[in-house]
Amino acid sequence: MPYTIEKGREARSLWSSVWQSGFRCRCPRCGVGSLYQGIAKVRPACSHCGLDLAQEDAGDGPAPFLTMLVGVLVMPPALWYEFTFEPPVWHHALLWLPLILALTIGTLRPAKSLLIALQYRFKASEAEESFADDDEANEADQSGREQDGTNQP
Ligand SMILES: [Zn+2]
Repeated sequence: MPYTIEKGREARSLWSSVWQSGFRCRCPRCGVGSLYQGIAKVRPACSHCGLDLAQEDAGDGPAPFLTMLVGVLVMPPALWYEFTFEPPVWHHALLWLPLILALTIGTLRPAKSLLIALQYRFKASEAEESFADDDEANEADQSGREQDGTNQP
């Protein structure tokens, strides 16, 4: 049974909204509009449905995940090659640097799209707004207490 979130959002299944939008680099709401306007720059708004994508931008979020993923994929063959053939260092540079660059650049857009789709689907931007509202309320409460001269909560 597909899992759906319907409150204020389009009722598409979790699979179609997150995975398809993520891997196809499309808008997380409509799944039609392109997410990027360059290599990895997110459009300010969806060209199809007008969703404000600036609020959904994952920024550098996928970088730590890609670093770990590429490391897990490249290290075993690099270690096997080193311990089996004991090649000079330039062999490693010639073999693994292009592979690391290709894997990183090739997976950057889908990983960023996947994070944006997850953020959109699970309302991460709204959570940030509510945390910001809580911080503002706490600061206003603190300044009110300081003006009263009381330090009691
Ligand atoms: Zn859209």
